[in-house]
Amino acid sequence: MTNAWDFQLELRSDPASTAARTAVLDEPGFGQAFTDHMVVANWSADRGWFDPKVTAYAPLKVSPAAAVLHYAQEIFEGLKAYRHEDGSVWSFRPELNAARFRRSAQRLALPQVEEQDFIAALRALLTVDEAWVPATGSGESSLYLRPYMIATEAALSVRPANEVLFGVIASPAGAYFETGPKPVSIWLTTSSIRATPGGTGAAKCGGNYAASLAALAEAVANGCDQVAFVDAVERRWLEEIGSMNLFFVHSDGTIVTPELSGSILEGVTRTSVIDLARDLGHTVVERRVSADDWRDGVRSGEITEVFASGTAAVITPIGRLAWPDDELLIGDHTANHGVGPITATLRKTLLNLQYGRIPDDRGWLTRLV
Ligand SMILES: *Cc1c(COP(=O)(O)O)cnc(C)c1O
Repeated sequence: MTNAWDFQLELRSDPASTAARTAVLDEPGFGQAFTDHMVVANWSADRGWFDPKVTAYAPLKVSPAAAVLHYAQEIFEGLKAYRHEDGSVWSFRPELNAARFRRSAQRLALPQVEEQDFIAALRALLTVDEAWVPATGSGESSLYLRPYMIATEAALSVRPANEVLFGVIASPAGAYFETGPKPVSIWLTTSSIRATPGGTGAAKCGGNYAASLAALAEAVANGCDQVAFVDAVERRWLEEIGSMNLFFVHSDGTIVTPELSGSILEGVTRTSVIDLARDLGHTVVERRVSADDWRDGVRSGEITEVFASGTAAVITPIGRLAWPDDELLIGDHTANHGVGPITATLRKTLLNLQYGRIPDDRGWLTRLV
């Protein structure tokens, strides 16, 4: 349709020293340290996309009247670059992130980025900052990639902005669970809603996150790690964790996940877990699941494992569900203070695929460097 983006390289003269970079890679944390460079491209209604470049990682210069600051016209993506044993660097199903970015852009009235340009942007940044991808030996470490798009036009009138910026930043990420996956506890909120029918729940946009933070604070105040949201209409159908999708393992091996209702974000990890679980012989059902189904199923022993899926933590076992009146501990995850067997197998299979430790039969990996 349009010409592929041709990135101009503006390499910085003062990249981090090897010692400084090594210090970060030794203890990356999550989303705190960033690589030497970043991608930016500009868009205007008149010109379309222009000046794509890789340049020094630095604060952006935007007007205090930029539409994003007032009306939250913003979207983002999250994916990872994985170092394989032979030194090569790969991403996992980036075409699904590119497609979701296009759907999010459509919903937030932002311009479209072609899949080839989205992936070219990742490759351009990785080519320059490859040294920031953690060594394969570190187990679950990766370089987290954060593409985003913001409305930069200085205009307080309410309408889709005519000037937009696309960017990619990258941040080394350690294993989400330092000492192996540990079950987390979830607060079930019914007072707060994350997304509504016809709203932006299926788009990956900052506004959804802003709307979830008060409920997360409520969860933490109640001794939980994360918060689960129910639907806006009946307030009983489980949606998701606000940054992760939910899965329920039944005693007969069937795996159930809330069906995409229009207000649930379609995770790349969710899609992949469904495919992998089916390959491993599980029946996977996408249907409505109520908060009572969760509670009753755990109490009766029908539900044996519960987990959440997302790029950052891959698969997170859930060991406890709490709500204003009560709480319950969840099956296999608490029985051995570890991870249920099906959760563990799915997690390991997914990681093995991402790190190139088993054959990529499905063609899910894209080489970046
Ligand atoms: C990104 C995200 C997820 C998980 O998606 P993945 O592609 O698996 O990382 C789940 N819910 C929300 C709201 C998200 O923004």
